Amino acid sequence: MTSTPVPTPASAPVVPPPALSARAASTGGSPVREILALTERPGVVSFAGGLPAPELFDAAGLRASYEAVFAASAGRALQYSTTEGVPELRGAVAGRATARGLATDADDVLVTSGSQQALALVVTALVEPGDAVLVENPTYLAALQAFRLAGARVVPVPCDDEGILPDALAEAVARERPKLLYTVPTFQNPTGRTLPAARRAAVAAIAARRGLWLVEDDPYGELRYEGADVPWLAAHPGAEDRTALLGSFSKVMAPGLRLGWLRVPRALRRAVVVAKQAADLHTSTVDQLAAAHYLAGADLDAHVAGVRDAYRVRRDALLAGLGQALPAGSSWNRPEGGMFVWARLPEGRDAAALLTSAIAHDVAFVPGAPFFAASPDPRTLRLSFTTHTPQEIGTGLVRLGRAARSRA
Ligand code: PMP
Repeated sequence: MTSTPVPTPASAPVVPPPALSARAASTGGSPVREILALTERPGVVSFAGGLPAPELFDAAGLRASYEAVFAASAGRALQYSTTEGVPELRGAVAGRATARGLATDADDVLVTSGSQQALALVVTALVEPGDAVLVENPTYLAALQAFRLAGARVVPVPCDDEGILPDALAEAVARERPKLLYTVPTFQNPTGRTLPAARRAAVAAIAARRGLWLVEDDPYGELRYEGADVPWLAAHPGAEDRTALLGSFSKVMAPGLRLGWLRVPRALRRAVVVAKQAADLHTSTVDQLAAAHYLAGADLDAHVAGVRDAYRVRRDALLAGLGQALPAGSSWNRPEGGMFVWARLPEGRDAAALLTSAIAHDVAFVPGAPFFAASPDPRTLRLSFTTHTPQEIGTGLVRLGRAARSRA
Protein backbone atom coordinates (compact mmCIF):
# COMPACT_ATOMS: atom_id res chain seq x y z
CA MET A 1 0.00 0.00 0.00
CA THR A 2 1.35 3.39 -0.95
CA SER A 3 0.61 6.56 0.93
CA THR A 4 1.08 10.19 -0.06
CA PRO A 5 4.09 11.58 1.78
CA VAL A 6 3.33 14.50 4.05
CA PRO A 7 5.32 17.48 2.65
CA THR A 8 8.03 18.73 4.89
CA PRO A 9 7.76 22.40 5.91
CA ALA A 10 10.82 23.18 3.84
CA SER A 11 9.35 21.86 0.57
CA ALA A 12 5.66 22.88 1.06
CA PRO A 13 4.53 26.13 -0.53
CA VAL A 14 3.33 28.60 2.12
CA VAL A 15 -0.12 29.92 1.31
CA PRO A 16 -1.34 32.87 3.34
CA PRO A 17 -4.73 32.50 5.06
CA PRO A 18 -7.71 34.05 3.22
CA ALA A 19 -8.28 37.81 3.27
CA LEU A 20 -10.18 39.74 5.93
CA SER A 21 -13.79 40.54 5.11
CA ALA A 22 -14.02 43.66 2.96
CA ARG A 23 -16.00 45.37 5.73
CA ALA A 24 -13.39 44.62 8.39
CA ALA A 25 -10.58 45.70 6.10
CA SER A 26 -12.24 48.97 5.15
CA THR A 27 -13.49 50.07 8.60
CA GLY A 28 -10.84 52.14 10.35
CA GLY A 29 -10.07 52.24 14.05
CA SER A 30 -11.18 55.23 16.07
CA PRO A 31 -9.02 58.34 15.52
CA VAL A 32 -10.30 59.55 18.88
CA ARG A 33 -8.68 56.58 20.64
CA GLU A 34 -5.38 57.55 19.04
CA ILE A 35 -5.77 61.08 20.38
CA LEU A 36 -6.63 59.73 23.82
CA ALA A 37 -3.39 57.76 23.83
CA LEU A 38 -1.50 61.04 23.32
CA THR A 39 -3.29 62.65 26.26
CA GLU A 40 -2.51 59.97 28.82
CA ARG A 41 0.79 61.63 29.69
CA PRO A 42 0.83 62.70 33.35
CA GLY A 43 0.14 66.38 33.81
CA VAL A 44 -2.02 66.80 30.71
CA VAL A 45 -5.38 68.44 31.36
CA SER A 46 -7.56 66.48 29.00
CA PHE A 47 -10.91 67.67 27.72
CA ALA A 48 -10.61 64.84 25.17
CA GLY A 49 -11.93 61.69 26.85
CA GLY A 50 -15.58 60.97 27.42
CA LEU A 51 -14.89 59.36 30.78
CA PRO A 52 -16.94 59.60 33.96
CA ALA A 53 -15.02 60.93 36.99
CA PRO A 54 -13.62 57.90 38.84
CA GLU A 55 -13.57 59.62 42.25
CA LEU A 56 -17.36 59.82 42.01
CA PHE A 57 -17.91 56.06 41.57
CA ASP A 58 -19.66 54.56 44.59
CA ALA A 59 -16.89 51.98 44.98
CA ALA A 60 -17.82 51.08 48.56
CA GLY A 61 -21.49 50.57 47.69
CA LEU A 62 -20.71 48.46 44.63
CA ARG A 63 -18.18 46.39 46.55
CA ALA A 64 -20.76 45.73 49.26
CA SER A 65 -23.21 44.57 46.58
CA TYR A 66 -20.67 42.16 45.08
CA GLU A 67 -19.97 40.78 48.55
CA ALA A 68 -23.68 40.40 49.22
CA VAL A 69 -24.35 38.42 46.03
CA PHE A 70 -21.42 36.11 46.73
CA ALA A 71 -22.70 35.61 50.29
CA ALA A 72 -26.27 34.97 49.13
CA SER A 73 -25.33 32.39 46.49
CA ALA A 74 -21.87 32.23 45.00
CA GLY A 75 -23.06 29.24 43.01
CA ARG A 76 -25.69 31.32 41.26
CA ALA A 77 -23.49 34.40 40.86
CA LEU A 78 -20.75 32.38 39.16
CA GLN A 79 -23.02 30.20 37.03
CA TYR A 80 -24.28 30.64 33.45
CA SER A 81 -27.61 32.49 33.28
CA THR A 82 -30.26 33.36 30.69
CA THR A 83 -29.52 35.34 27.54
CA GLU A 84 -32.16 38.00 28.30
CA GLY A 85 -30.62 38.86 31.69
CA VAL A 86 -31.26 38.04 35.34
CA PRO A 87 -34.90 38.73 36.29
CA GLU A 88 -33.96 41.05 39.17
CA LEU A 89 -32.03 43.42 36.89
CA ARG A 90 -34.57 43.30 34.05
CA GLY A 91 -37.26 44.14 36.59
CA ALA A 92 -35.23 47.00 38.08
CA VAL A 93 -34.55 48.49 34.64
CA ALA A 94 -38.23 48.20 33.73
CA GLY A 95 -39.19 49.91 37.00
CA ARG A 96 -36.82 52.81 36.38
CA ALA A 97 -38.00 53.26 32.78
CA THR A 98 -41.62 53.21 33.90
CA ALA A 99 -40.85 55.81 36.58
CA ARG A 100 -39.37 58.01 33.82
CA GLY A 101 -42.69 57.91 31.96
CA LEU A 102 -42.33 54.95 29.60
CA ALA A 103 -44.43 51.98 30.75
CA THR A 104 -42.03 49.03 30.54
CA ASP A 105 -42.33 45.40 31.53
CA ALA A 106 -39.36 43.23 32.54
CA ASP A 107 -40.04 41.14 29.41
CA ASP A 108 -39.38 44.21 27.24
CA VAL A 109 -35.81 44.47 28.58
CA LEU A 110 -32.67 42.69 27.41
CA VAL A 111 -29.59 43.21 29.58
CA THR A 112 -26.49 43.80 27.44
CA SER A 113 -22.74 44.07 27.90
CA GLY A 114 -22.72 47.87 27.74
CA SER A 115 -25.17 49.74 25.55
CA GLN A 116 -22.57 49.42 22.79
CA GLN A 117 -23.50 45.75 22.56
CA ALA A 118 -27.19 46.66 22.36
CA LEU A 119 -26.37 48.72 19.28
CA ALA A 120 -24.39 45.85 17.74
CA LEU A 121 -27.28 43.44 18.33
CA VAL A 122 -29.83 45.76 16.75
CA VAL A 123 -27.54 46.21 13.76
CA THR A 124 -27.15 42.44 13.40
CA ALA A 125 -30.90 41.99 13.62
CA LEU A 126 -31.78 44.68 11.08
CA VAL A 127 -29.00 45.71 8.72
CA GLU A 128 -28.02 43.93 5.49
CA PRO A 129 -24.94 45.07 3.58
CA GLY A 130 -25.98 47.97 1.35
CA ASP A 131 -28.93 49.04 3.54
CA ALA A 132 -29.19 52.75 4.20
CA VAL A 133 -28.92 53.87 7.82
CA LEU A 134 -29.70 57.47 8.76
CA VAL A 135 -27.62 59.27 11.38
CA GLU A 136 -27.27 62.74 12.86
CA ASN A 137 -24.33 64.70 11.49
CA PRO A 138 -22.07 64.65 13.47
CA THR A 139 -22.76 61.54 15.54
CA TYR A 140 -21.22 59.02 17.97
CA LEU A 141 -18.11 57.58 16.41
CA ALA A 142 -18.48 53.99 17.57
CA ALA A 143 -21.99 53.92 16.09
CA LEU A 144 -20.52 54.93 12.73
CA GLN A 145 -18.04 52.06 13.12
CA ALA A 146 -20.80 49.57 13.95
CA PHE A 147 -22.82 50.58 10.88
CA ARG A 148 -19.78 50.51 8.59
CA LEU A 149 -18.74 47.08 9.89
CA ALA A 150 -22.20 45.83 8.96
CA GLY A 151 -21.73 47.13 5.42
CA ALA A 152 -24.43 49.79 5.81
CA ARG A 153 -24.65 52.89 3.65
CA VAL A 154 -24.46 55.62 6.30
CA VAL A 155 -26.49 58.67 5.30
CA PRO A 156 -26.32 61.86 7.40
CA VAL A 157 -29.50 63.82 8.06
CA PRO A 158 -29.09 67.62 8.16
CA CYS A 159 -29.19 69.00 11.72
CA ASP A 160 -29.12 72.40 13.39
CA ASP A 161 -28.19 73.39 16.95
CA GLU A 162 -31.14 71.40 18.32
CA GLY A 163 -30.49 68.22 16.33
CA ILE A 164 -32.36 66.57 13.47
CA LEU A 165 -34.46 68.75 11.16
CA PRO A 166 -37.73 66.81 10.74
CA ASP A 167 -38.37 68.06 7.18
CA ALA A 168 -34.88 66.97 6.15
CA LEU A 169 -35.52 63.59 7.79
CA ALA A 170 -38.78 63.11 5.85
CA GLU A 171 -36.97 63.97 2.64
CA ALA A 172 -34.06 61.57 3.42
CA VAL A 173 -36.47 58.75 4.24
CA ALA A 174 -38.34 59.22 0.97
CA ARG A 175 -35.10 59.37 -1.01
CA GLU A 176 -33.01 56.64 0.68
CA ARG A 177 -35.62 54.10 1.89
CA PRO A 178 -33.48 53.48 5.02
CA LYS A 179 -33.84 50.65 7.51
CA LEU A 180 -33.41 52.80 10.57
CA LEU A 181 -32.59 56.17 12.07
CA TYR A 182 -29.91 56.15 14.77
CA THR A 183 -30.18 59.11 17.13
CA VAL A 184 -28.74 60.29 20.45
CA PRO A 185 -31.48 62.83 21.15
CA THR A 186 -30.45 63.85 24.67
CA PHE A 187 -27.09 65.54 25.42
CA GLN A 188 -25.65 64.03 22.27
CA ASN A 189 -22.13 62.77 21.85
CA PRO A 190 -20.31 64.77 20.46
CA THR A 191 -22.38 67.97 20.42
CA GLY A 192 -24.15 67.93 23.80
CA ARG A 193 -27.35 69.07 22.08
CA THR A 194 -30.88 67.89 22.87
CA LEU A 195 -33.75 67.36 20.46
CA PRO A 196 -36.82 69.32 21.64
CA ALA A 197 -40.06 67.44 22.38
CA ALA A 198 -41.90 68.84 19.34
CA ARG A 199 -39.20 67.51 17.01
CA ARG A 200 -39.28 64.12 18.76
CA ALA A 201 -43.01 63.97 18.07
CA ALA A 202 -42.35 64.84 14.42
CA VAL A 203 -39.61 62.17 14.11
CA ALA A 204 -41.91 59.53 15.63
CA ALA A 205 -44.71 60.50 13.24
CA ILE A 206 -42.39 60.30 10.23
CA ALA A 207 -41.15 56.85 11.34
CA ALA A 208 -44.74 55.61 11.66
CA ARG A 209 -45.92 57.12 8.37
CA ARG A 210 -42.93 56.04 6.29
CA GLY A 211 -42.03 52.70 7.90
CA LEU A 212 -38.74 53.19 9.71
CA TRP A 213 -37.05 51.65 12.76
CA LEU A 214 -35.79 54.11 15.37
CA VAL A 215 -32.70 53.45 17.46
CA GLU A 216 -32.69 55.85 20.42
CA ASP A 217 -29.36 55.81 22.26
CA ASP A 218 -29.59 57.45 25.70
CA PRO A 219 -26.53 57.00 27.90
CA TYR A 220 -26.59 60.62 29.14
CA GLY A 221 -30.27 61.43 29.81
CA GLU A 222 -30.00 61.16 33.60
CA LEU A 223 -27.14 63.70 33.70
CA ARG A 224 -29.33 66.82 33.53
CA TYR A 225 -27.97 69.90 35.31
CA GLU A 226 -30.78 72.33 34.53
CA GLY A 227 -34.05 72.60 32.62
CA ALA A 228 -36.90 70.10 32.35
CA ASP A 229 -36.65 66.48 31.23
CA VAL A 230 -37.74 65.79 27.65
CA PRO A 231 -39.66 62.52 27.19
CA TRP A 232 -37.89 59.72 25.33
CA LEU A 233 -38.49 59.54 21.58
CA ALA A 234 -39.77 56.01 22.29
CA ALA A 235 -42.66 57.50 24.29
CA HIS A 236 -44.10 59.53 21.40
CA PRO A 237 -47.12 58.34 19.38
CA GLY A 238 -45.97 56.32 16.38
CA ALA A 239 -42.66 55.29 17.97
CA GLU A 240 -44.02 52.67 20.39
CA ASP A 241 -43.73 49.58 18.20
CA ARG A 242 -40.54 50.55 16.36
CA THR A 243 -38.06 52.10 18.80
CA ALA A 244 -35.09 50.20 20.16
CA LEU A 245 -34.19 52.23 23.28
CA LEU A 246 -30.62 51.81 24.49
CA GLY A 247 -29.73 52.58 28.11
CA SER A 248 -26.54 52.28 30.10
CA PHE A 249 -25.22 52.04 33.64
CA SER A 250 -21.86 53.41 32.48
CA LYS A 251 -22.49 57.07 33.26
CA VAL A 252 -24.63 56.62 36.39
CA MET A 253 -22.79 53.70 38.08
CA ALA A 254 -19.48 52.83 36.35
CA PRO A 255 -18.47 51.97 32.78
CA GLY A 256 -16.16 49.13 33.86
CA LEU A 257 -19.23 47.12 34.86
CA ARG A 258 -20.09 46.93 31.15
CA LEU A 259 -23.81 46.88 31.87
CA GLY A 260 -26.35 48.30 29.48
CA TRP A 261 -29.86 47.47 28.42
CA LEU A 262 -32.14 47.41 25.44
CA ARG A 263 -35.88 48.08 25.61
CA VAL A 264 -36.86 46.17 22.56
CA PRO A 265 -40.11 46.21 20.55
CA ARG A 266 -41.87 42.86 20.33
CA ALA A 267 -41.16 42.34 16.62
CA LEU A 268 -37.39 42.63 17.20
CA ARG A 269 -37.16 40.61 20.39
CA ARG A 270 -36.41 37.14 19.08
CA ALA A 271 -33.83 38.37 16.58
CA VAL A 272 -31.82 40.34 19.14
CA VAL A 273 -31.91 37.45 21.63
CA VAL A 274 -30.56 35.08 18.96
CA ALA A 275 -27.89 37.66 18.05
CA LYS A 276 -26.87 37.93 21.70
CA GLN A 277 -26.70 34.15 22.09
CA ALA A 278 -24.33 34.03 19.15
CA ALA A 279 -22.28 36.95 20.50
CA ASP A 280 -21.72 36.05 24.16
CA LEU A 281 -24.53 33.77 25.46
CA HIS A 282 -25.31 36.29 28.21
CA THR A 283 -23.90 39.23 30.15
CA SER A 284 -21.84 38.41 33.26
CA THR A 285 -24.15 36.92 35.91
CA VAL A 286 -22.23 38.27 38.89
CA ASP A 287 -22.14 41.82 37.50
CA GLN A 288 -25.86 41.75 36.80
CA LEU A 289 -26.70 40.43 40.27
CA ALA A 290 -24.44 43.00 41.94
CA ALA A 291 -26.08 45.82 39.98
CA ALA A 292 -29.55 44.49 40.83
CA HIS A 293 -28.59 44.26 44.51
CA TYR A 294 -27.27 47.82 44.38
CA LEU A 295 -30.46 49.08 42.74
CA ALA A 296 -32.61 47.34 45.33
CA GLY A 297 -30.69 48.51 48.39
CA ALA A 298 -28.69 51.64 47.62
CA ASP A 299 -30.21 54.89 46.43
CA LEU A 300 -28.98 55.25 42.84
CA ASP A 301 -31.03 58.40 42.36
CA ALA A 302 -29.32 60.06 45.33
CA HIS A 303 -25.94 58.96 43.99
CA VAL A 304 -26.73 60.37 40.54
CA ALA A 305 -27.88 63.63 42.14
CA GLY A 306 -24.40 63.95 43.68
CA VAL A 307 -22.73 63.22 40.34
CA ARG A 308 -24.94 65.83 38.68
CA ASP A 309 -23.97 68.45 41.28
CA ALA A 310 -20.28 67.82 40.65
CA TYR A 311 -20.60 67.81 36.85
CA ARG A 312 -22.72 70.99 36.84
CA VAL A 313 -19.91 72.87 38.58
CA ARG A 314 -17.37 71.45 36.11
CA ARG A 315 -19.50 72.38 33.10
CA ASP A 316 -19.85 75.91 34.48
CA ALA A 317 -16.08 76.16 35.03
CA LEU A 318 -15.47 75.19 31.41
CA LEU A 319 -18.10 77.57 30.06
CA ALA A 320 -16.85 80.42 32.24
CA GLY A 321 -13.32 80.26 30.83
CA LEU A 322 -13.85 79.18 27.24
CA GLY A 323 -14.21 82.71 25.91
CA GLN A 324 -10.71 83.58 27.17
CA ALA A 325 -9.19 80.34 25.86
CA LEU A 326 -10.56 79.98 22.33
CA PRO A 327 -9.57 82.41 19.56
CA ALA A 328 -11.77 85.50 19.14
CA GLY A 329 -14.72 84.73 16.89
CA SER A 330 -15.17 81.16 18.18
CA SER A 331 -18.63 79.96 19.16
CA TRP A 332 -19.81 77.18 21.48
CA ASN A 333 -23.02 75.82 22.98
CA ARG A 334 -24.28 75.54 26.56
CA PRO A 335 -25.65 72.01 27.03
CA GLU A 336 -28.13 71.49 29.86
CA GLY A 337 -26.55 68.14 30.71
CA GLY A 338 -24.30 65.30 29.59
CA MET A 339 -20.54 65.45 29.30
CA PHE A 340 -19.68 67.57 26.26
CA VAL A 341 -19.47 71.14 24.99
CA TRP A 342 -19.21 71.60 21.21
CA ALA A 343 -17.24 74.55 19.86
CA ARG A 344 -16.38 76.05 16.49
CA LEU A 345 -13.24 78.03 15.70
CA PRO A 346 -13.39 81.16 13.55
CA GLU A 347 -12.98 81.13 9.77
CA GLY A 348 -9.50 80.03 8.72
CA ARG A 349 -8.69 78.05 11.89
CA ASP A 350 -8.39 74.27 12.05
CA ALA A 351 -9.10 72.21 15.19
CA ALA A 352 -6.56 69.49 14.32
CA ALA A 353 -3.81 72.13 14.03
CA LEU A 354 -4.89 73.68 17.33
CA LEU A 355 -4.73 70.21 18.94
CA THR A 356 -1.07 69.79 17.93
CA SER A 357 -0.24 73.07 19.62
CA ALA A 358 -2.50 72.24 22.60
CA ILE A 359 -0.73 68.93 23.25
CA ALA A 360 2.60 70.79 23.29
CA HIS A 361 1.03 72.95 26.03
CA ASP A 362 -0.21 69.91 28.03
CA VAL A 363 -3.88 70.30 27.27
CA ALA A 364 -6.09 68.27 24.90
CA PHE A 365 -9.51 68.06 23.26
CA VAL A 366 -10.95 66.09 20.35
CA PRO A 367 -11.31 67.65 16.89
CA GLY A 368 -14.88 67.33 15.65
CA ALA A 369 -14.15 66.16 12.09
CA PRO A 370 -14.07 62.36 12.74
CA PHE A 371 -17.62 62.47 14.15
CA PHE A 372 -19.11 63.57 10.84
CA ALA A 373 -20.59 60.92 8.56
CA ALA A 374 -20.04 63.31 5.66
CA SER A 375 -18.89 66.91 5.04
CA PRO A 376 -16.65 67.16 8.14
CA ASP A 377 -16.29 70.64 9.60
CA PRO A 378 -12.56 71.04 10.43
CA ARG A 379 -13.28 74.07 12.64
CA THR A 380 -15.27 72.05 15.23
CA LEU A 381 -14.08 70.50 18.48
CA ARG A 382 -15.51 68.53 21.41
CA LEU A 383 -14.59 69.39 24.98
CA SER A 384 -15.48 67.05 27.83
CA PHE A 385 -15.76 68.61 31.29
CA THR A 386 -16.33 65.62 33.58
CA THR A 387 -12.92 64.26 34.56
CA HIS A 388 -11.18 67.31 36.02
CA THR A 389 -11.88 69.52 39.03
CA PRO A 390 -12.90 73.14 38.38
CA GLN A 391 -9.36 74.23 39.34
CA GLU A 392 -7.79 71.82 36.84
CA ILE A 393 -10.27 72.96 34.21
CA GLY A 394 -9.13 76.54 34.85
CA THR A 395 -5.49 75.49 34.41
CA GLY A 396 -6.36 73.64 31.20
CA LEU A 397 -8.12 76.69 29.80
CA VAL A 398 -5.13 78.95 30.51
CA ARG A 399 -2.94 76.48 28.60
CA LEU A 400 -5.46 76.24 25.77
CA GLY A 401 -5.45 80.03 25.49
CA ARG A 402 -1.65 80.01 25.20
CA ALA A 403 -1.81 77.27 22.60
CA ALA A 404 -4.36 79.20 20.56
CA ARG A 405 -2.34 82.43 20.73
CA SER A 406 0.88 80.62 19.84
CA ARG A 407 -0.70 79.80 16.49
CA ALA A 408 -2.32 83.20 15.89
N1 PMP B 1 -23.68 55.56 22.95
C1 PMP B 1 -23.11 56.76 23.11
C2 PMP B 1 -23.71 57.92 22.44
C3 PMP B 1 -21.94 56.88 23.88
O1 PMP B 1 -21.37 58.08 24.00
C4 PMP B 1 -21.41 55.72 24.51
C5 PMP B 1 -20.17 55.75 25.37
N2 PMP B 1 -19.33 56.78 25.31
C6 PMP B 1 -22.06 54.50 24.31
C7 PMP B 1 -23.19 54.45 23.54
C8 PMP B 1 -21.53 53.22 24.89
O2 PMP B 1 -21.76 53.14 26.25
P1 PMP B 1 -21.63 51.79 27.08
O3 PMP B 1 -20.55 52.02 28.05
O4 PMP B 1 -22.97 51.62 27.74
O5 PMP B 1 -21.35 50.67 26.13
